[in-house]
Amino acid sequence: MGTRSAPVAASIGRSPTVALLDEVQRQRARGVDVLNLSGGEPDFTTPEHVIRAAGAALEAGFTHYTPSRGIPELCEAIAAKLHADNGIVAHPGTDIVVTPSAKHGMYIALAGVIGPGDEVLLPSPAWVSYAPMITLLGGRAVDVPLDPHDGFALTAERLSAAVTPRTRAILVNSPNNPTGRMLTAAEADAVAGVADQHDLMILADEIYEHIRYDGRTHRSLAAHPGCDGRTLTVNGFSKSYAMTGWRLGYVAGPAAVMREVVKVQEHTVGCAASFVQRGALAALSEESRGCVREMVASYDARRRLLVGALGKIPGVSCADPEGAFYVLPDISRLGFGSSQEFSAWLIERAGVVVTPGSVFGPTAEHHVRLSFAASPDILTAAVERLATALATRENP
Ligand code: PMP
Ligand code: GLU
Repeated sequence: MGTRSAPVAASIGRSPTVALLDEVQRQRARGVDVLNLSGGEPDFTTPEHVIRAAGAALEAGFTHYTPSRGIPELCEAIAAKLHADNGIVAHPGTDIVVTPSAKHGMYIALAGVIGPGDEVLLPSPAWVSYAPMITLLGGRAVDVPLDPHDGFALTAERLSAAVTPRTRAILVNSPNNPTGRMLTAAEADAVAGVADQHDLMILADEIYEHIRYDGRTHRSLAAHPGCDGRTLTVNGFSKSYAMTGWRLGYVAGPAAVMREVVKVQEHTVGCAASFVQRGALAALSEESRGCVREMVASYDARRRLLVGALGKIPGVSCADPEGAFYVLPDISRLGFGSSQEFSAWLIERAGVVVTPGSVFGPTAEHHVRLSFAASPDILTAAVERLATALATRENP
């Protein structure tokens, strides 16, 4: 054998959340009755007017390549949305790139910010794909462990402790997957302060921005004092508009960085699908406000149902999520060796699929993530099965 190096892809593992979703589909195809609370995927269908707009685009032959940055009318709508909803000033011609998924958006945003050996601070628990993306780009994801005992609060001390001369950026996700936490003003100040002190870029993943509860307001880092000019905002249509299969997102940031980001888009996917962009344009219209409000009200009812039902199970403690559609209960008092062991046991014993906390980093070990983007019937049945399985467990 020669001395060939391993492919870059060999340095990362599979996406555990995608793998679980695949497994659920496999089990269902075999006729197994599984209740899926793993992957975060809305169970609603995409709003009618969005489907109609994409369908009309197809019918009209709008089936060719578009500019890499996205169709101008969508870039303009995104700029208007960013200004109205988020207080972000982004020029549609230079500061925005429409991407096939927020996932790809985050990947190319990172590519525009880091190079080999650069470090990105990743407060954890963190969504499963950030660290592998950073690794694929030759960078290093540096875990900033947050503490479950203080609600995973992000502080300047915790961020500063992880800064080295190679630190290039801080990646923040709010509302957060998997904790359900939303950034407070003090936390945003902490991010801004550390970024300013060490001249770091900020990557803000705001994909759950519309899904929030109890009247909370969403805080966009790009509009926060001190973050302006150093923040790339990543967002997408999957969660807010129940458009996971459409694969559409966007990145907005300073023109000088976006000039680099768009080159990566040009060389990888070229552009997002043309007719999908027309659908996204409809999603950003006034007509969607009611649909989003209804879906969020439904998530809120499910959140209450799930948190209430889990709270009745001895040994399980669960904070109220502030946003997104996940709960992250602490299962440490149930007596399992690990969250992985608990999750495997739950599938085996009860046919309920949840995501082990450990996939989100060591700070989420002894927790499991349950998605409540599932119907109230499924949520109720899943918690009943969980309670019964625990109550009838041998040698707990
Ligand atoms: N960020 C977070 C925090 C997510 O949970 C997801 C869900 N997959 C994404 C980004 C990517 O969303 P999508 O690729 O479906 O646009
Ligand atoms: N974002 C969702 C999750 O965390 C969907 C799966 C994925 O893309 O990771 O479960």
